[in-house]
Amino acid sequence: MHTPRIPDLAAADPRIAELIEAEAQRQHDKLRMIASENYVSTAVLEATGSVLTNKYSEGYASKRYYEGQQLIDQIETLAVDRAKALFGVDHANVQPYSGSPANLAVYLAFLQPGDAVMGMSLPMGGHLTHGWSVSATGKWFRSVRYGVRQETGRTDMDQVRELALAERPKVIFCGGTAIPRTIDFPAFAEIAREIDAVLVADIAHIAGLIAGGAHPSPVGHADVLTTTTHKTLRGPRGAMIMSTAEKASAIDKAVFPGLQGGPHNHTTAGIAVALHEASQPGFRDYAHQVVANAKALAAALVERGFDLISGGTDNHLILVDLTSKGIGGKPAAQALDRAGIELNYNTVPFDTRKPFDPSGIRLGTPALTTRGLTEAQMPQVAAWIDEAVGASAAADEAALDKISGEVRDLLAGYPMPGYAAA
Ligand SMILES: *Cc1c(COP(=O)(O)O)cnc(C)c1O
Repeated sequence: MHTPRIPDLAAADPRIAELIEAEAQRQHDKLRMIASENYVSTAVLEATGSVLTNKYSEGYASKRYYEGQQLIDQIETLAVDRAKALFGVDHANVQPYSGSPANLAVYLAFLQPGDAVMGMSLPMGGHLTHGWSVSATGKWFRSVRYGVRQETGRTDMDQVRELALAERPKVIFCGGTAIPRTIDFPAFAEIAREIDAVLVADIAHIAGLIAGGAHPSPVGHADVLTTTTHKTLRGPRGAMIMSTAEKASAIDKAVFPGLQGGPHNHTTAGIAVALHEASQPGFRDYAHQVVANAKALAAALVERGFDLISGGTDNHLILVDLTSKGIGGKPAAQALDRAGIELNYNTVPFDTRKPFDPSGIRLGTPALTTRGLTEAQMPQVAAWIDEAVGASAAADEAALDKISGEVRDLLAGYPMPGYAAA
């Protein structure tokens, strides 16, 4: 059952309580491999479920527009100070509601409508908010998109430089949602410097790896860092923008009053708790284990004939092109879900299929590492994925059902924060 317990909710709204209980059970029983997801600690759950949700606090610590901020100011200041210490930055703003609004604040801070912005193309692994056409960022700004090299699956830094010099974007985004390799922050910084652009490292996926020393840091290279707090960083749903001292005031003004009203104080407290957890020695072990697990899983998948974009991984994430297995990403992801393995279908670079029915799947190890799985279990995980993909192609529902039982049996030995056996 869900923990912390929810008896008052069960009495007041049994239907919602029942659904939350069922979701806790589902998260417990499934191998959660969506690369952007994790399990937060019960400490983070308690902070985000607290009375802080009752309070309005427009403004920043000691410069608020409402009274009664004696304690909220301390909470937000703790979150800011912990972010600065953990990432080694001059400035941190912990108020963005989520990763997308954090990126919008960057546009508001440094661009006028119609200005050029450069980011990785969405189907190559970028994010919607890096200037993709259906996003406000692609509609209201002139977006310039780079990609990966077809032969290597790695970011084409020659293309980044050529496009930057030709198009002179005012802002360059590096980072993305489906990049299995280390991002070369110094190389991006050199290009940005050449054209006097603001370099933004969107580290939403890898913030926890950076905090834990398992991925190089963009600090000292990028002017601005944006990140969600709920992916590898293992905090509540939210975001932060970090920057040099020089960019601090533009960022703060863009978040409030430029884009948002009152900050979500319960989330701010949850972020503070997560940052505290991420500063403990155990979190370094966690971050390195996430990468070790992803590498072990990648090797086991390659051994089973899977085609991995870039041939492997440096981080928490694996992108698989299923073309050689004769199945699309979507039917494979749906079959894997029935087999108790939760991941998402994804475009692969130079995909010949449509975005809602692409060639690939994306999977990651942050959540299963939080459960305590190690390299020792990764060959078994790869075997299940292989078996489920084969069963899907053969429409063998019984095989999928059998795997989901095996997954549940394995996970029974690995506790989940937020759930306790009844
Ligand atoms: C997840 C993500 C975001 C957006 O975060 P939301 O909280 O979903 O709005 C932005 N950029 C990157 C690179 C991401 O991976």
